[in-house]
Amino acid sequence: MKNIAILGSTGSIGTQTLEIVRMNKELKVTALSCDKNIDLLENQIREFAPAIVSVGDEHDAFELKKRIRGLSTKVYFGMDGLCEVAREPDANLLVNALVGMIGVRPTYEAIQNSKHVALANKETLVAAGDIIMKMAGEYRVNIIPIDSEHSAIFQCLAGEKDNPVKKIWLTASGGPFFGRMTHELYNVTPSDALEHPNWSMGKKITIDSATLVNKGLEMIEAYHLFGVDIDSIVPIVQRESVIHSMVEFEDGSIKAQMGVADMRIPISYALNYPRRMPLPYKGLDLTALKQISFLEPDRKVFRGIDLAINAAKRGGNTPA
Ligand code: MN
Repeated sequence: MKNIAILGSTGSIGTQTLEIVRMNKELKVTALSCDKNIDLLENQIREFAPAIVSVGDEHDAFELKKRIRGLSTKVYFGMDGLCEVAREPDANLLVNALVGMIGVRPTYEAIQNSKHVALANKETLVAAGDIIMKMAGEYRVNIIPIDSEHSAIFQCLAGEKDNPVKKIWLTASGGPFFGRMTHELYNVTPSDALEHPNWSMGKKITIDSATLVNKGLEMIEAYHLFGVDIDSIVPIVQRESVIHSMVEFEDGSIKAQMGVADMRIPISYALNYPRRMPLPYKGLDLTALKQISFLEPDRKVFRGIDLAINAAKRGGNTPA
């Protein structure tokens, strides 16, 4: 039995995580958190009976307590509440599906309490990767990426502990504005940016994908997770989103992880690591796939990539 705590359980990654939990009798939920969606959190409490939950503010905590009177679930709020969820005593694994740097402290708490972390919150590593990875080493906990590219790299590195990595090919869909020149982007709107061609995700990451800032953040994330030089991490546009990233070794071999663009695959891998559980979804239809194309991102138009490289090279607080 694996007990899991989930930060951000009402968001895109959080709800998909619970979908995987429902299919797996070996997984039990002991703690949940959300920001404002207490209606959904209430349903999740009734279904999963966690020991504790946390919400964004005191007002919602009060309201939720009223609604679940009679149940044994304890209610917390704010940053202290997120930390309570992260260190919930019975949990072995924290799923961090928060958005933004708010994820740093709870991750820190989880590691300090010897819990493995399934990390969807890339900003934790972008802002505090040096601290977090060092601590994970000291406390001997796994940081298992949920971010699809990093899950792909993590999977490609299985069994390759003693083999140096020559290059990480970090794939990008390119987003809805790929191929446009700067002057063609002057009048795009947020709703244009939210039309992601391949992935269905939360709003913040979808906007970051449209600008390729997300790819820049992911380069820093990969740099911390896998301990490779930032210059050895090469972003490459793979429009069809069937290759989720690749690792090149010193003998010239390149390993790729492929699959449909479905976050439930990396989530399931992180929850069940090192095992793989069967999933009932339709797999990749290779014969229907006409081509797999690779293109270079235009770094003059999409400046997030070079901004990220520069920030990673400066180190310290610059990425934050
Ligand atoms: Mn990603």
